[in-house]
Amino acid sequence: MEGKKIKGFLLKGVRLIETLKFIVDNNVGKLAKWLRIMGYDTLFFNGTNDSRMVSTALNEERVILTRDTQIMRRRVVTSGRLKAILIQSDKPELQMRQVINDLNLDCRFKPFALCLECNQPLLERSKQQVEGRVPPYVFQTQSQYMECPTCHRIYWRGTHWQAMTRKLNKFEECQRKEEGF
Ligand SMILES: [Zn+2]
Repeated sequence: MEGKKIKGFLLKGVRLIETLKFIVDNNVGKLAKWLRIMGYDTLFFNGTNDSRMVSTALNEERVILTRDTQIMRRRVVTSGRLKAILIQSDKPELQMRQVINDLNLDCRFKPFALCLECNQPLLERSKQQVEGRVPPYVFQTQSQYMECPTCHRIYWRGTHWQAMTRKLNKFEECQRKEEGF
């Protein structure tokens, strides 16, 4: 049963979900979507003022992910007060693997709990509630829906969802392989 499976991952990562939040620099922007797919509260920093990003990270206890070495040299980071990870690769998939490995992330502890666009927790919706708001073929075939309270995007377990789940599985397999060595 799908619900049971998700619950298991939740239990496994329960400590992490309470504490681990991210702020993603615009030079590694693709990471935001992936972390949200996994269920990690992730802000995307689109400004140019690094100090702003650093203060947000401090105030909200977020881990900074960046390719900017300047940020890594800041006292607040070198002293360990603020956790920041310098991302090595320019390839999103390798970037994601680095984050997963460095922080030992659970790749699927709360999949599809957050809106991929605005980082808001999704709300469950009944079939009746989404009638007329999703394509007719979707309405015919799907029974479970989620809605973002901010952008009102509706999510369902369609092909896009399946493709992303496959990718999450792939990340997880990689992690398991590395742990095996
Ligand atoms: Zn949204």
